[in-house]
Amino acid sequence: MTAPSSVTPAQGRELATEIPGPRSQEIHARRQKAVARGVGSALPVYVEAAGAGLLRDIDGNTYIDLCSGLGVTGVGNAAPDVVAAVQEQVARFTHTCFLATPYEGYVAVCEQLAELTPGAHEKRSALFSTGAEAVENAVKVARAATGRAAIVVLDHAYHGRTNLTLGLSARNMPFKQGFGPFTPEIHRIPASYPFRDPEGLSGEQAARDALEVLERQVGGENVAAVVVEPIQGEGGFIVPAPGYLPEIARWCARHGALLVADEIQSGFCRTGAWFASEHEGIVPDIVASAKGIAGGLPLAAVTGRAEVMDAVQLGGFGGTYGGNPVACAAALAAIDVMRRQDLAAAARRIEKILTSRLNELASRYDAIGEVRGRGAMIGVELVRPGSKEPAPELAQRVVEACHAKGVFLLTVGTFGNVLRFLPPLVIAEELLSDALDVLEQSFARLGN
Ligand code: PLP
Repeated sequence: MTAPSSVTPAQGRELATEIPGPRSQEIHARRQKAVARGVGSALPVYVEAAGAGLLRDIDGNTYIDLCSGLGVTGVGNAAPDVVAAVQEQVARFTHTCFLATPYEGYVAVCEQLAELTPGAHEKRSALFSTGAEAVENAVKVARAATGRAAIVVLDHAYHGRTNLTLGLSARNMPFKQGFGPFTPEIHRIPASYPFRDPEGLSGEQAARDALEVLERQVGGENVAAVVVEPIQGEGGFIVPAPGYLPEIARWCARHGALLVADEIQSGFCRTGAWFASEHEGIVPDIVASAKGIAGGLPLAAVTGRAEVMDAVQLGGFGGTYGGNPVACAAALAAIDVMRRQDLAAAARRIEKILTSRLNELASRYDAIGEVRGRGAMIGVELVRPGSKEPAPELAQRVVEACHAKGVFLLTVGTFGNVLRFLPPLVIAEELLSDALDVLEQSFARLGN
């Protein structure tokens, strides 16, 4: 079998067949008999090669990628430096299990995490394979370090699909339905969702109101941790009102609770800073990261204050694959690319391009309720004109129209009505502009 040729940005968007094409349809028919129904795919075109902001399917259709594999391939898909590091590592050894015989790559990734995550305090990290696993372990650390049980989470939160992280997540369908019971001692407080806050509360006030109820119902002295996403991802790319997260951080410090930032989607330059907490002026006690850390290889991390992390007994962390050497090699290469190419600055440039074009579109279409987000994590919330009533059908029609023209865009949000812009941080400006032209044409046909 010959390897598919790599994708170069000069190729651009190109449609060779109907979508999905005949070969994708063929594999899709096989899939129905082999893959469980609960595993969905937003666009069932089967990918052959990807890179440089483009995805090519096995029928020869090339799509502009505004998804980055759900926020993972910030440094680009099959980024050359990541590929080289993986090939070099995989030829030396593929696995030993760090718990059995360790290797340097794991240590080097933890050193990078200590340097890059917010705060100058002494830190320790432990590595895992998925974001959900990182959040689970962050909760374990918080309970071990505080001797308390209660975990506080926000409305609209998403933290993963294991039983504990589903319990932490807010949305029932399709994530939680039928999978309960979930673990006890999880308490949900209102998030700050400025577009949907009828009272227009300041961030501080929204946090104070939420925490006052929490204190009455749970008691601050029982809270091990408050877990927040500095920008809520699956909830709809919600940026909290200024002051909301700092007020939560102050409350945590006052009550001896730990502030856990789930930076799994927002970390590693995605929002125009290494971590989105920096925009909010908060220094979390524990940071969970994953996705963008390793250019597409499965790696996740929990990084926290040394004394907090080291409250866990020897042997309390682990897992067969956590911090796999190939994933660590990929992470070191990806972090090096982020530093050398200053991908935080690239994300800020993407923000400018996206928000200026999208705000211009919003001035023409009443169905666009709000354009929001930071860096290369931008959401467009669609509503029924003249109201704030969510318009998920319109969002679905817009993304389908984009798919049909070779632009891969997804919806997101509690109400399914937010267009989600999550391009690779290395995407060429011409591709981004072309994708926005396609979006504009879709609105011209569907919007109002
Ligand atoms: N936390 C956040 C904020 C996420 O966005 C996600 C995934 O989308 C997760 C946790 C779960 O990560 P994973 O799918 O790697 O388990």
